[in-house]
Amino acid sequence: MEFTEYNLTRVREVNKKNIIEENDYILYWMQAYRRLNYNHALEYANHLSHKYKKELVIFEGIRSNYPWNSERIHQFILEGIKDNYEKAKELGINYFSYVETDKEISKNILIDFSKKACAVITDDFPCFIIPNHIEKFAKQIGVKLFAVDSNSIIPISKYGEVSATARGLRTRIHKNFEEAYLNKSKKVISFFQTKKKSKFNYESFIPTEKNISEVMQKLKFTNQVPKVEIHGGYNEAKNKLNLFLEKNLNRYKDFRSNPHSPEITPGSALSPYLHFGHISTDEIITEIFNFNSKNEWTIKNLNTDSKGDRENFFHTNQNINSYLDELLTWRDVGYLFFWNKKEFNKDLNSLPNWVKENLKKHTPDKREYLYSKKEFEEAKTHDSIWNSAQKELVITGKMHNYMRMLWGKKIIEWSKTYQEAFETMEELNNKYALDGRNPNSYTGILWCFGLFDRPWFPERPVHGVLRYMSSDSTKRKFKLGEYLDYIKKLENKSESLF
Ligand SMILES: Cc1cc2nc3c(=O)[nH]c(=O)nc-3n(C[C@H](O)[C@H](O)[C@H](O)COP(=O)(O)OP(=O)(O)OC[C@H]3O[C@@H](n4cnc5c(N)ncnc54)[C@H](O)[C@@H]3O)c2cc1C
Repeated sequence: MEFTEYNLTRVREVNKKNIIEENDYILYWMQAYRRLNYNHALEYANHLSHKYKKELVIFEGIRSNYPWNSERIHQFILEGIKDNYEKAKELGINYFSYVETDKEISKNILIDFSKKACAVITDDFPCFIIPNHIEKFAKQIGVKLFAVDSNSIIPISKYGEVSATARGLRTRIHKNFEEAYLNKSKKVISFFQTKKKSKFNYESFIPTEKNISEVMQKLKFTNQVPKVEIHGGYNEAKNKLNLFLEKNLNRYKDFRSNPHSPEITPGSALSPYLHFGHISTDEIITEIFNFNSKNEWTIKNLNTDSKGDRENFFHTNQNINSYLDELLTWRDVGYLFFWNKKEFNKDLNSLPNWVKENLKKHTPDKREYLYSKKEFEEAKTHDSIWNSAQKELVITGKMHNYMRMLWGKKIIEWSKTYQEAFETMEELNNKYALDGRNPNSYTGILWCFGLFDRPWFPERPVHGVLRYMSSDSTKRKFKLGEYLDYIKKLENKSESLF
């Protein structure tokens, strides 16, 4: 059960406390990579469990009062817990799931679990409330806490400094890929088994459909955001991946950008599952490389003469190269931004200087249309195409990728200040999108403000030299009829929302 030396770069010692070998178990606190396979954090916990010959205990919990909490997000996480509970039972692992219904218990439960642990391992996710949780918990407990990076197939720390462009990161990905692939996480983990399982003074939540529905009725959420038809969990993530491979991968490169209903759009729709850790990049990449292939894909298949190119490096199928450019380059450039910018305060201060100068110059510009956050939220702008994108987000918990860019660009143009535009996007994205509250939520929003981009001319009011997008140009570029009809149907089904 060796954890390779290469992967030790993923492990961060969060406190200087000791590993207490006399204690009962190795505790894995699963808070971001909510899955039982292809998970480096779980593999490290399992490695320690073999090393010290101690039982592995997994603790997966959910509080009720996190920022942007809602029925939509909670249901998705609980469905993931259900899959993990069932899988853990099949594997014979001591898995404890905790769903907060009583704040008094929440205060102490994890600390109590840590008291009998030799060491605690958790997930090193760089965004949302998780970094603070980790730092606080490291001080509260009496044993060693390790945080392990299982965010991507390449350890984020291998990339070095923040990259100013996606192209800059692409070269680093290609340089690191071979070694990372050889050290990728595993589909099947051989867990250390003990005859007797540790017992706890708390009752584990049994995530049957009935119990999930009962607990959901009991909870009071701050945000009134109803659940959606998209279901959470590893099993559903796997269904989505298989559907993507069988039906959509071969249309990905040419048709990904065209706004369509999810039935026709060839995107994988995996971003919510990646966000909650229900599926890993390592598994997606392994499956894509080997789909419909007689021979197993190996690193010998890499085209090393194409290092740094968007095309040709990974595969002879350009759809695969195009998909991996999103899954690795665009996703990881955002994770790296968060990983290194500890001072990033979720505002506009981290934008490059050319953007800051541009925004300063155009601050006094007259806005042709002005909307409040509430008007944006209720899709009450003059622009029916923008309104459709906002309705898609509110009703379904997702928005087509191209429309997301247009959506953000227009909020910048129609808000009183740039800061207000940023706050509106943050609020609406994180409240309604199932993949929100992620590094890519912020880098996606900041991309609309010019992050990872360059100046574009001609210079215009409000946007200045930021890349410009409009509903008219979107209409000219794509046939939007099918997308707009789809939104109309959605709206008719859920009249009360608008
Ligand atoms: C204003 C704005 C807000 C955004 N907010 C989020 C967010 O909250 N969470 C989020 O995960 N992504 C966000 N994105 C990026 C992108 O829109 C989504 O990742 C993508 O639409 C997800 O759909 P998919 O899973 O079908 O992607 P696919 O096309 O199947 O791509 C595969 C994976 O690659 C990653 N990816 C794809 N496109 C991008 C991109 N442009 N930037 C970063 N990663 C990408 C995602 O993890 C995605 O699941 C935002 C973009 C913008 C412009």
